[in-house]
Amino acid sequence: MNDVAKQTDGRNQPTLPIYLDYQATTPTDPRVVAAMLPYFTEKFGNPHSTSHSHGREAAAAVEAARHQVARLIGADEREIVFTSGATESNNLAIKGALRFKGETRRRVVTYVTEHKCVLESARRLGEEGVEVVLLPVSPDGLVDLDLLARTLDERPTTLVSVMAANNEIGVVQPLAEIGALCRARGVLFHSDAAQAVGKVPIDVEAMKIDLLSISGHKIYGPKGIGALYLRRRPRVRLEPLFDGGAQERGIRSGTLAPPLCVALGEACAIAGAEMAAEAARLRQLRDRFYRGLTRAVPEVVLNGDPEHRLPGNLNIGFPGIDGQALLAELPELSLSLGSACTSAAVEPSYVLKALGLPDALANGSIRIGLGRFTSEADVDFAVDRLTSAVRRLRGAAPSA
Ligand SMILES: *Cc1c(COP(=O)(O)O)cnc(C)c1O
Repeated sequence: MNDVAKQTDGRNQPTLPIYLDYQATTPTDPRVVAAMLPYFTEKFGNPHSTSHSHGREAAAAVEAARHQVARLIGADEREIVFTSGATESNNLAIKGALRFKGETRRRVVTYVTEHKCVLESARRLGEEGVEVVLLPVSPDGLVDLDLLARTLDERPTTLVSVMAANNEIGVVQPLAEIGALCRARGVLFHSDAAQAVGKVPIDVEAMKIDLLSISGHKIYGPKGIGALYLRRRPRVRLEPLFDGGAQERGIRSGTLAPPLCVALGEACAIAGAEMAAEAARLRQLRDRFYRGLTRAVPEVVLNGDPEHRLPGNLNIGFPGIDGQALLAELPELSLSLGSACTSAAVEPSYVLKALGLPDALANGSIRIGLGRFTSEADVDFAVDRLTSAVRRLRGAAPSA
């Protein structure tokens, strides 16, 4: 268990408001902030100006960070490209692979529950004449492997894009099985792993992943930094999104931000070192949350597969309740209905609808995201408040 977790578990009074939205973003770990700070001031060099020691110092820090990122996913550091985040990584992977000059297949297969940036990248390619296949998921949110195999056997496909873990319902996909299926057919496999990296084990070799997207701010690093893993053997070819100075081996032009690169590296190193213990701690907290809730409130629906999911995620439906109204009753809890990108919209989550949930239940579902700084006291307080709010809204007299 990490030091912060030890501290938070010893605390019995939660600090309000309680943050329960770790799938939207995470606080930057103080250890990450400490690692990055010197690269703003005394170690400010341009990592591409290697004719002098200022530049070489920054370049060495960037390369050390690249190694830390690679290590977390079983990659070689030469396979890591720094980007501004998972949105850029997903755009670069999907558009880059399909727009590559030598590519003749021009077909991409992805899923209805993917993040908007994947769906919109695919849609853009559709406008460019690429065949886009959007597959459904099973009612538990998982990929149907037989359906994927059948779809790939229909026609030559360039790339399959499947997220490693869903940002709303937390389900973790069978990546190794998907990877094997793609590799056997010579199809590139891209995974948006923004939610999975650092939370569940990812190994690009064992899982036969060719491209993988990482986001800093989902793993206790800062916003504005991410990475794309790009397989070297066999080499994956991409058309870059940006024209410029050909940094990052020509794949991503633009001056790298050494403080952000160092931060991502440190976040990956911490996540790797603490993953097993932290996952066990979060699983326990999550199960405590779910148990507490189901004991106190009748008719609670868990959306998404219960087993194959992130240790820190619950997505819970309360039949007969409006999710917006429920959140309005809970000012002390920072909770959301679903994805941060669509939470301003009034329509029910497209991810929940893709599971076949009726509008009424999709509208009455909330996402609970626990993370590194969540304590047992936070969970108990949140369950208590949530229970009272649900009872109030259902008009039931408070029971003993
Ligand atoms: C957060 C998230 C993204 C976007 O990442 P940014 O780094 O914020 O651009 C993409 N995909 C998933 C699954 C996410 O959770």
